[in-house]
Amino acid sequence: MNAELVDERIAALGRHVLDGGTLEKDDALFLFELENSADIHTLLSWGNRIREHFKGNKIHLCSIVNAKAGACSENCSFCSQSALYQTDTPRYGFVDPEPVSEAGEEANRNGVTAVGLVAAWRGLKEGPMLDEVCDRITEMKEQGQTRPDASLGLIESQEVANRLKEAGLECYGHNLESSERFFPEHCSTHTFADRLRTIEFLKNAGIKICSGGIIGMGESREDRCDLALSLRKVGASVVPVNILNPIPGTPLENQEPLPPLEILKTIACFRFIMPTKEIMVAGGRTVNLRDLQCMIFQAGASALMVGNYLTTLNQPVEKDLQMLRDLGLDPDWEEFDEGEADGCGCGEKESCDTSGATEATETVTA
Ligand code: SF4
Repeated sequence: MNAELVDERIAALGRHVLDGGTLEKDDALFLFELENSADIHTLLSWGNRIREHFKGNKIHLCSIVNAKAGACSENCSFCSQSALYQTDTPRYGFVDPEPVSEAGEEANRNGVTAVGLVAAWRGLKEGPMLDEVCDRITEMKEQGQTRPDASLGLIESQEVANRLKEAGLECYGHNLESSERFFPEHCSTHTFADRLRTIEFLKNAGIKICSGGIIGMGESREDRCDLALSLRKVGASVVPVNILNPIPGTPLENQEPLPPLEILKTIACFRFIMPTKEIMVAGGRTVNLRDLQCMIFQAGASALMVGNYLTTLNQPVEKDLQMLRDLGLDPDWEEFDEGEADGCGCGEKESCDTSGATEATETVTA
């Protein structure tokens, strides 16, 4: 297809989305497979236009507090918190009330909308640990304006999801991580279907879903496209896009990084596929995008994970806030509005745990 026709097709799809249309897979895949730098920049400009149309100039901010680190039984190959890999990641049990409370206070000071309570473990069952989790959520809720979210792994029953809702939880982070086809390539201790089941329990309980994935693990562009289509199907309110930051000691330690333009293109494609949702750039942003970080908003991102990630460092919050001001964007201190009906914040974890973000773990997930 010549350059003019490519331009026209991107513009036609952009107008279709602005008019409230939905992308079919062949059109979505066409966007994911754009190669030429000029075409990608055209796509980014449409991603920006779609973001502005549905989200205005508000940028939703999230942060996380790692409530339990390391020694996870699962084998997600991007994750430094798996007990199966030798990494330098700290290990500690479920935290006391004080560190959680401090994280909530700091988030309040910085105007962060939501703080996600993240734990590196397989998941949450009924019992004393669920009681503790519910206590922390209730305490955070009573503390102030920052909404407590959680990303605590697989949920084994409807009762557990209902308890979280009763404790005051509004949003749960649980990444799908990748396409269903690619999932067994990076995890064999649980399945894509397990993650979908957890999301169903949460939705049934009336909890909003923060769910995204990690890119740069060796998946194909079609896998990224299928991930985005699955996230649209489950109705994720917040969609964290984590970019693999290979951690020494994990199976993906030597994975080639994705080129920045490929990352920006992926963000724009997610915006085209889920135009009204919060597309949030989470783990791996700083290390993979470097000086191009500010272009995530031009690509269509409407949310940002700020503060440190689960196992890696982010740039200071003040620097992110300055970046937003310089771009004429407005950090969203209020409850966000998805343009449709739902809204949420996210509690991610580095692409682990079962949650949402991953600086891949600069990230979040579980
Ligand atoms: S991503 Fe989550 S479930 Fe997987 S190993 Fe890491 S902490 Fe465990």
